[in-house]
Amino acid sequence: MLGLMQDWPLLCTKVIDHAAENHGGREVVSRSVEGPIHRTNYRTVRTRALQLAKRLEMEGVGRGDRIATMAWNTWRHLECWYGILGVGAVYHTLNPRLFPDQIAWIMNDAQDRMVFADLTFLPILEAIAPRVPSLKRIVVLTDAAHLPQTTLDVVAYEDWLAEADEDFRWVAMDERDAAGMCYTSGTTGSPKGVVYSHRSNILHSFIAIQPDAMNLSSMSRAMPVVPLFHANGWGIAFSCPMVGATMILPGPKMDGASICELLVGERVTFSAAVPTVWLMLLQHLEKTGGALPDLGRVVIGGAACPRVVTEAFETRYGVEVVHAWGMTETSPLGTLNTAKPETGHQTGAELFDRKQKQGQVPFGVEMKVTDDENRELPRDGRTFGRLKVRGPAVSSAYHGGSGQEAFDAEGWFDTGDVAHIDANGTMQITDRAKDVIKSGGEWISTIDLENLAVGHPDVQEAAVIGVAHPKWDERPLLVVVRREGTDVSREALLEFLAGKVAKWWMPDDIAFVEEIPHTATGKIQKMALRQQFADYRLPTA
Ligand code: AMP
Repeated sequence: MLGLMQDWPLLCTKVIDHAAENHGGREVVSRSVEGPIHRTNYRTVRTRALQLAKRLEMEGVGRGDRIATMAWNTWRHLECWYGILGVGAVYHTLNPRLFPDQIAWIMNDAQDRMVFADLTFLPILEAIAPRVPSLKRIVVLTDAAHLPQTTLDVVAYEDWLAEADEDFRWVAMDERDAAGMCYTSGTTGSPKGVVYSHRSNILHSFIAIQPDAMNLSSMSRAMPVVPLFHANGWGIAFSCPMVGATMILPGPKMDGASICELLVGERVTFSAAVPTVWLMLLQHLEKTGGALPDLGRVVIGGAACPRVVTEAFETRYGVEVVHAWGMTETSPLGTLNTAKPETGHQTGAELFDRKQKQGQVPFGVEMKVTDDENRELPRDGRTFGRLKVRGPAVSSAYHGGSGQEAFDAEGWFDTGDVAHIDANGTMQITDRAKDVIKSGGEWISTIDLENLAVGHPDVQEAAVIGVAHPKWDERPLLVVVRREGTDVSREALLEFLAGKVAKWWMPDDIAFVEEIPHTATGKIQKMALRQQFADYRLPTA
């Protein structure tokens, strides 16, 4: 017997239809790339997205075509997503922080047909556009008055858009059609194309808005600092309009002062970003003595959230930190660390210990850890192994079929992360599989050591890598950037760590550096660091 309910396709365009009809006047506020603050609302975003879809159709764009964007978070970028989706095409966010060679490779792999680009990124496009034969049109997200001199054949977005009206119907689509593309950062090997469907984006949004996730509603004033080009923009382009939340988009300025100005001036209640953004904001607040009167919750993920960040937000500014884990391949929300009846009473050190962990899965994500032979490991909060996930918003393959070894026949995706899970289902990442230090056959978690080291007041940033050792194969080396104007010594730091970790986890040495290399998405580039210290001789060796 079949259920007798409607087959209402889960399409992304339904989200903006719903927002325009039921929350039409709700604001979308942006810091424009040209400078001034710009204000629009969901009704107008939808009207202009219809216009954009029609204009794309005039361009010959149709179902399945890949349309790239290289843009900051602004209302125009949001319109692009919905307009592209509305003509049945696929939004493909490009990360401008990647090397130009990598961007060109990615555009060719995706066969991008057009690109919408912010003014900021014209120099990058000038360098790579001639190397992408599939690229037929470059639209600069500005008006004619702001269009600069360029060697490229470009059009200004506002003029191009004005050539169509909004008399358009979203094209008929299947919920399994591709909706968006985003490439993994490719710290090892070539980047891999993740392809979201309309269905996966909608189901991911239902997951994201829950109280135990982002807790979004029409009362929220949400500021996604995380760029739309990082891991599907954490789904916020769909989850905010889905509930009619006010959106505040920071545009190109993500320094502490600019973010603070919007948080306070626009009375932001919810925000999401990687730890580096929050470190900059907290430093700014410390310097200026500012406060965050309206901010209620921040979701922090993309890299392990340092304890100092959680402590500062919660104790000094009264902001709830939700530490989250996810990946481009998981749309991206995987786990979130929110209070549960078992943990809700916690305060002080106990609370902050808990918030070091990446949290629990919402309904819609299944998770387990296994050993190298795919045997599931106990949920004891100690035994760590390969973290595997599956669910309706988790990749089942990469574009073009590369990297197939990460997916097994039962649908489990091997994340490449190493983690343990406790009896309550709380997961903690202990490493990337390729970064974990193998000392005498036992594993040492580099992230645990890094989290401890950044707890020292004089440490700005810390990274731990394995360095060759004649007896133990590998031993940990702690690489440290000192906070400006401080002079902590090797001995003082080792003393600070002693007693906080097992003796055999203690770093064999500490190297002080001016800077630690980062990837395009702000993660520590362990591979580059390992190369830098390839010939390093530990005092214990
Ligand atoms: P990306 O697809 O670029 O967002 O990178 C995903 C990877 O970032 C994950 O596989 C993890 O290695 C890392 N990551 C994301 N969130 C966290 C977190 N909260 N703690 C530690 N690592 C994280």
